[in-house]
Amino acid sequence: MQGLNITKIEEKIVEINSETCKHQPVYFGAVNINLNEKTIGSIDVWRCGVCKKKFCEEKQLGIESITDIVGMPKIEPDEKWCIIVSKFQTGKDKWKLTKIKESGSINFETVDEKIIELKIKNFKIEDDHHWSFLIDDHIGRAVEI
Ligand SMILES: [Zn+2]
Repeated sequence: MQGLNITKIEEKIVEINSETCKHQPVYFGAVNINLNEKTIGSIDVWRCGVCKKKFCEEKQLGIESITDIVGMPKIEPDEKWCIIVSKFQTGKDKWKLTKIKESGSINFETVDEKIIELKIKNFKIEDDHHWSFLIDDHIGRAVEI
């Protein structure tokens, strides 16, 4: 009897490991991206019902989305989903969904395909020309960029 219980506990540990989990994402919510109070895009957030890991899908307004849950982008345990906003761009080039670590830096591709290095502090971009916000903090809301 005791042996059976231990097996069950071990199974549970395997199940909640987000690295080995066979994710079963369910729709969790959305973040709207607004520009001058008009929604120009949104992020759909999916969450695995087993390991609680979140997955994001970017939707530009007017562009048909191709949802493929099986192909959900990988995110590491020490990363969070965020939007990087460029202060000098407009429209769809103004924002980009990406993954961010707590600190360090991130290589960011600009509209003219230049790779620039942005500094990160406390899950936020620290840069004169860019800013960022975390998806987790704005689910179910609209963010004015
Ligand atoms: Zn999972």
